[in-house]
Amino acid sequence: MAVLRVLDSAVLCGAFGHEARALEAEMAQLYGRAEAVSCSSGTAALHLAVAAAGVGPGDEVITTPISDFGTVAPVVAQGGRVVFADVREDDGNLDPDAVEAAVTPRTKAVIAVHLFGGAADTVRLREICDRHGLLLIEDCAQAWLGEDEAGRLLGTTGDIACFSLQQYKHITAGDGGLTLTDDPSLATRMRLFMDKGWDRAEGRIHRTMGLNYRMTELVAAVARVQLTRVAGVVARRRASARRLIEAVGGLPGVTVPQRRTGHAWWVVPLLVDDNTRWARGLEERGVPALPGYLERPLYANPALSGYPPGLCPRAERLIGRTLLVLPWNEGYSEDDVDRIAQALGKVATS
Ligand SMILES: *Cc1c(COP(=O)(O)O)cnc(C)c1O
Repeated sequence: MAVLRVLDSAVLCGAFGHEARALEAEMAQLYGRAEAVSCSSGTAALHLAVAAAGVGPGDEVITTPISDFGTVAPVVAQGGRVVFADVREDDGNLDPDAVEAAVTPRTKAVIAVHLFGGAADTVRLREICDRHGLLLIEDCAQAWLGEDEAGRLLGTTGDIACFSLQQYKHITAGDGGLTLTDDPSLATRMRLFMDKGWDRAEGRIHRTMGLNYRMTELVAAVARVQLTRVAGVVARRRASARRLIEAVGGLPGVTVPQRRTGHAWWVVPLLVDDNTRWARGLEERGVPALPGYLERPLYANPALSGYPPGLCPRAERLIGRTLLVLPWNEGYSEDDVDRIAQALGKVATS
């Protein structure tokens, strides 16, 4: 229906239609923020944020080594330097003390990733950013409608929040991205960067540097429908994650997430003694599991250089040894969850 409506209109480009603008208004309303800007991916959303923050050559942005590459690629694209701070051992989110220790006169921004749907400590990170005059960017790609312990929506504390509509997120339009902000000047800068620095109300003048990161009308139409479903998606994930945690909370050798309030459960992260053994054991019983989530911390990828091994020991230990990620889905039935719990029980005692 939504897609046919766009095809019938014969306007497929987001610059000329009204689906992308309507999606932005609906997203801003969902989160209670002043403005939303749509774009072509979560990585693009982060690029809008980093560009709007004024990150350029020599500037530093502090973030986590455990995330999607899309969190850091925009910083590199702007000629900035990514400074990796270590994470908390229990949930893999940024350790605010490590962030504060990494601040230098060149620091421009902090990107807080709400890893797996669990809240980073935005209260302390906000306070650190305010004290040092830094922009706080929240990467909410894995945390649609997640909340912090105080019940505050993730994506409402940062100067800018970024979301992804990629295939494997809570909701998808294939690919797509959204940013949120309450600051009209940040919104204008992001909007210009998304469309070649071109304010179409003004004429064909390129005021600022920009790329083409526009969301198409087809994607926006799908995303608008998805946005009406996200609350249900998160609610079903919460119910099934709670069922799993109740079932496996007492198993030997497994630690379930302790910070569960408001979690959006993009995946269910567990802590184990040997994630390779657990992943293999689950795989043998037909349950998909990712040891460590990543193969290596972001800084150990060939695309980046100048970061020594051992830079963030807690992140390396999580990836290499203790973190076990169970892909999660709102379509899991109680039966599916019980079978996953059973498989975990078997591996625990094997
Ligand atoms: C998926 C993801 C991104 C990148 O989003 P894309 O839409 O794939 O570009 C960025 N950050 C995090 C935390 C993600 O999970």
